[in-house]
Formats: sequence, structure tokens, C-alpha cells
Amino acid sequence: MAVTERTTQPWSALLDAGRQDGRLVREAFEGERAPEFAPIPHDLHPALKAGLQRAGIDQLYVHQAEALEAAWAGPTIVTTGTASGKSLCFNLPTLDVLCSDAKARAIYLYPTKALAQDQCRALNALGLGKQIRPAIYDGDTRREDRLATRRRSNLILTNPDMLHLGILPNHTQWANVFANLATVVVDEAHVYRGVFGSHVANVLRRLRRIANAYGTEPRFLLASATIANPVELAERLTGLEDFTLVERDGSPSARRQIAMWNPPITDEALSTRRSALAEAAEMIAGLVREGARSICFIKSRKAVELVSKLVRMELEKTGDGELAARVAPYRAGYTPQQRRELEAALSAGDLLAVITTDALELGIDIGSLDAAVCVTFPGTVASLRQMWGRAGRRGRGLAVYVAGEDALDQFFCRHPDEFLERPVESAILDYENEQIHLAHLLCAAHEGPLGEGDRDVLGPRWRAHAEHLVSVGDLVERRGEFVLRQQEGYPAAKVSLRSASPDSFQIVDTLSGEMLGTVESARAHTTTHDGAIYLHQGRSYEVKELDLDARRALVVPFTGNYYTQPKKETDTWIERLLDRRETMGVTLSFGTVCVTDQVLAYQRKQLPDHDVIDLQALDLPQTQFTTQALWYEVHDEVLADDFPMELLLGSLHAMEHAQIAVLPLIAMCDRWDIGGLSTNAHLQTGGPTIFIYDGHPGGVGITRQGFRCFETLVQDAYRLITECRCEKGCPSCVQSPKCGNLNEPLAKNGAAEVLARMVER
Ligand SMILES: [Zn+2]
Ligand SMILES: [Zn+2]
Repeated sequence: MAVTERTTQPWSALLDAGRQDGRLVREAFEGERAPEFAPIPHDLHPALKAGLQRAGIDQLYVHQAEALEAAWAGPTIVTTGTASGKSLCFNLPTLDVLCSDAKARAIYLYPTKALAQDQCRALNALGLGKQIRPAIYDGDTRREDRLATRRRSNLILTNPDMLHLGILPNHTQWANVFANLATVVVDEAHVYRGVFGSHVANVLRRLRRIANAYGTEPRFLLASATIANPVELAERLTGLEDFTLVERDGSPSARRQIAMWNPPITDEALSTRRSALAEAAEMIAGLVREGARSICFIKSRKAVELVSKLVRMELEKTGDGELAARVAPYRAGYTPQQRRELEAALSAGDLLAVITTDALELGIDIGSLDAAVCVTFPGTVASLRQMWGRAGRRGRGLAVYVAGEDALDQFFCRHPDEFLERPVESAILDYENEQIHLAHLLCAAHEGPLGEGDRDVLGPRWRAHAEHLVSVGDLVERRGEFVLRQQEGYPAAKVSLRSASPDSFQIVDTLSGEMLGTVESARAHTTTHDGAIYLHQGRSYEVKELDLDARRALVVPFTGNYYTQPKKETDTWIERLLDRRETMGVTLSFGTVCVTDQVLAYQRKQLPDHDVIDLQALDLPQTQFTTQALWYEVHDEVLADDFPMELLLGSLHAMEHAQIAVLPLIAMCDRWDIGGLSTNAHLQTGGPTIFIYDGHPGGVGITRQGFRCFETLVQDAYRLITECRCEKGCPSCVQSPKCGNLNEPLAKNGAAEVLARMVER
């Protein structure tokens, strides 16, 4: 695997330099894969066969044929790679049904409008205008077109929000669609995880319930990036069983060179490295000079602007200023027309490099490029692989990962082989999260009375939850059915699919008056307190005022060079113990806890060096929420033999941070989705205890996965800490950018000692 390739490529000089000075941590090759074909089945509808022929398709890849067979038989999920012709896997069976039955209808769900537009274009390109009439139904669909879409279109492309807010509550207007609904396609299914996924799982159950009410049981066809648990995800999302998994990829792929790249160390003592952004800019400039078409993915819009600027400066420095015009940042908010122009410029080679946020991974139609550079770990191996999948043109490609200073990034650089071979993460969701389930039961009751027949679709807890809704006065029970107390209500309007609790604050841009989004109450104080710098969809805002009574945060766009970190006091109270086991010298528990937070102050920190500017006091009341958590009590034996007890609290705290940092390796989540607390004497356990909890009210299963894989969590944390070269702890090991105690106290060596003792047991 580690063969070094010496033939000349546009990136040969770049990689040579990296090999020499050690920045190229690891290189690997993904071999060329020859295509495996299968014939187009005879019994496919003749019109569809003709459409394929017109599109120049005279045979299928094996996975497309396999998916077609599977979809004819039952629910199916496809997980082949980027650019493997995955769409055809669900298009063939769907279009076959629509061609054969003039009354049949299909719904396609996409997480973004851009993706729905791309798919709609692809469907139109098949030229099946007589039989297939696709239409997009989303927030942008003009009111006067909506009625026509409902009446005429037989393939409706929409998104979960529109389904939840617009279609399901108004199902009587859609009666014709639901009564003939043959297929539901859920593309990019891996996006539906965590809080969002838990909501979408409820929306899909509501969809099944309404379809049942109109006498149909649509076939569900899902497509997803590679994840560890595709069938489990499909079942949790839809509530259906017996999914067939199609994963063997028959599409050809280019020989791809993979490079893991770590910026050079600039300060040995502090083990600080050159910024990943500067390193990436230099790399992109080099690729542009060599004429390689490249795409560069980065997390925030600010970083996109910065890298674009740096690339241009690099090019001007070497007298290649005219090339600077062929590098462009890709900003969200482009119109479809602007997107098309940019995509066309890139595929024609007029544009050589595009710098973009990783959100774009989901919605650019550019085919393949020479190089794909991902700057800092995008959060999941699955999405990194998707970005890398863009690299490969004319038989070869370069896929780069430039590591940042964050704990996971540096952990990967020390374990490159493991990183390249690691199985992708599991996508976790919990549709029965109490708050989320309750909210959707109300929506469901609005769509039709809840009754005993709903058990199969809405799950075994539906009745208990419905009775709870009666007790709080939202539902009333009449003759064995549950209906809304106020029939004129419109519960879906109060449920945001992106927050776990209906109880949320609005974020309002005071300059434009625009409502940017919402933040859960449980998080409002920590993320949108007065003076906070708040990142929303890659853009920075400064909070001018958090109005607790009006439940909104007033913000203005922010261009300064600092960020904020809140200081807070957290308490956890164990409410229910659900599971417990002894392992590694600790008593490990899983259950629900009540988390009490009080934000006391916040620090302003300078970028890029993180120097503290000042500490500003805040006057905010306590907040509380109940959620899932794992916790463990460290036994005395582990702390025997001269463990320096004065370091105990700092050690537990550092362990907690390290474990939170590596938890995303086993459950797809962001470290911002998880909270922690460590104490050397918890009120209820009476001893040294570490809590790790789901950061969203009710929890969505992340810490349950942590409980299951606790031993891995401990081992990964142990390696994270002991292998970092810093002396006393740094952002690449035990310091956390979200610590409510501002990273005080932390004892790196003490943590290493306790973890070593646990691992040895
Ligand atoms: Zn360190
Ligand atoms: Zn902390």
C-alpha cells in the first residue's frame, strides 16, 4: 500500500518536498478499479429503456442492477461511493413504476434545495417528459405553481422541512399523491443523524401514517454515504424492517493518491504548528501553477475568504498574478444560475481552484477534478471520504487532508494507517427522544386522531406519550382516540427540525431584520449571551443583546479577530439509572441526568494565537435540562499506590476532555453535541466521578453508544493524551475549546496515569 510513486504528476514536486521535511505524514494509493457491468433487465419499462439509450446508457453497473432487483422486492439502502451512479439505483425502480402506472406518484427527499435541483435536472435529461413529470416543491416554489405541482407532477422533489410543515399538515390537498404514493426516496440519508435525524425519523413515520390512511404503503429507497451501520440507520429512520443493503460498487474509479499532511512545527516547546490555512493556501497555489484543477474544503466562510486571499497572494509573490483570477471562493447564497456558471467554468478549466465550505460537499455538480484538499478534519471520516471522492480525472487524482491543531486532527496524524483503514462511524439517532417524539405526536394528532392502529408506525411508546400530552392539556381523549385540544392549532409551525426542544430562542440579525435561525433554550445562554461571537452556517455574528423575555438574541455581522468562550458552573443530578456494568476498575452507568448550568462570564480570545483579551462578567439565571448520560465512578484501587491526590480533580477533568474529544470516533457527532462534568466527590455517587452527557435535551443516543463502546473510548483517550508531545496539555490533547471552566484545572500527566491504570486492568 505504501509504495512511493515517482512518475511525474502535477503534484510530484509538492509531495517530494513534503516527504523530505516530514509534513507528508502518510501516503497511500487507492488502486484503479475496473467497472463491472450488468445488462439492462428485459422487463424494465420500454420507455425507460429508450430514455436510458438516449442518455447513452446501454448497460448498468452491477450495483445498479442489484439495487433495481432489491427495490422491486422490498425496502433498500444503497451505500456505494461518490460519483458511482448512485442516483440511478433509486431512479430506475421509481421511474419504472411511474412509467407503468400513470396514477403512481413518488416523493424524493433531499436535505438541501441545491441537491433537489440537481436531481430534477438529471431526471429531465432522461427525456421521459410524457411519463415522468418531476417538480420541485420547496419554500421557493411560487404560490401559483403549487396547485399545478400537486395536480400534475408525478415525482415531487422536496425536503424534510417542507414535508413536515407544508405537505403533511395539509395532506387533504395532497390526497391524490398519498392515495397513489408508490415510492419514497431518501437520498443522502447519512445526513439524517443526531437531533436532525431524530426529527426526520418522526417526519417519515408521519408520512407512512398518512399514506396508510389513504390506503398505500410506499416502498422506501434510501441512499447514503458509506457509514458503519447503513441498515440500522435505514430502519431507525423509517421504522421499517428487512432493508436490503447494496454496497458492492461496480463503477470504475481512478487511481488516487492520498496524502495526510501535517503543517510544520513552529515552536518545539509548545508544540505549536503553522496554521493549516496558510499551509493549504500554499499547496493550492502550487497546484494551480501546475495547472491542476482543485477544490479545497474548509469549515467556515471566514476561512474560505482568508484562504482565497492567501492563495492569490502566493501566486502574486511568484509573478503568477494572472493565475489569481482563476481561483474563486464559492459562497453560499449563490443563485442556481450563478452556481451553474461556476460549475461550468470549473469543468471547462477556465477556473482552476475553488475554495468552499464543506457544506458544499452536498450540492455542487462539478464531476471530477484533479485534486481535492480538505483542510482540518470535517468531523466524520464519512464526509472526508466524500470530499476525497472528488479527486480523480483522466485516470489519476490527489486527495489531501491537511491536519489542524485540534485533538482529533493530531490524533489522526499520529495514527495515519489506522486513520486510513478505520471503519467509518455509525450514524446515531433516537426517534423516541421524549421532547422530539412528543412534538411530532402533536403534529400527527393534527393530521388525524391518534389511535390504537398507530402503534406500528409511531412506536410502542406512543400511548404513554399521548397520555402525557393529555395530562399537560395539549391533547384530549375521546372514545379511545386522541385529538388536539385546540383543533385550529398548527403544531408543526412550532417544531424546528434542527433543535431537540420546542423551547427555543430566535436569532435575529438587527441590520437586515432577518431571522437567521433558532437556538435551543438549553444552549442559548452558553452560545448567545451578550457579547458572544456566534457562528451560524459558517458566518460570524456578535450578539448585541440576549433578550430573555422575548426569547431572542439580537445579533450583527461580525468581522473582528477574536472569539468568545463562556465560563459556567455545571451540576448534574442522576435521575434514572438504566444500565450499569463493572469495567476497567470503574463502575460504569448509563441513564438520564438533569444538567443545571449557569453562565457566569465569558473570555474574549485573540485569533489566531488564542491569547486572552479579557474576562467579562454576565448576569444570567440558571437553566436546566434532562438528557442521557454515561458516568463512571473511579474505584479506590485505581487511585491507590501513591497517586498524587492533589492532582485528582485536574486529572479527571483532563480525562473527561480527552474522552469527549474522541467520542466522535465511535458515534457521528460534533464535540459541541456533548457535554461533560468531572468531580472528585459527586453528591450522589459519593466519590470521584466523570459524567459525559448528550448536549441536547432528551439525548439522541450518542452517550448510549459511548456506554457500549466505553473500552474503546478509554483506550483512544489514553493514546490521545500519552502520544501528544506537549508538556502540560495543549489544544491537541486535553484542552477543550468549549470548556466551561476555561480549561482549569487540567493535569495531563495525572490523567495519563489514571487512564494507564484503567487500561491495564
Ligand atoms: Zn498536547
Ligand atoms: Zn472542562
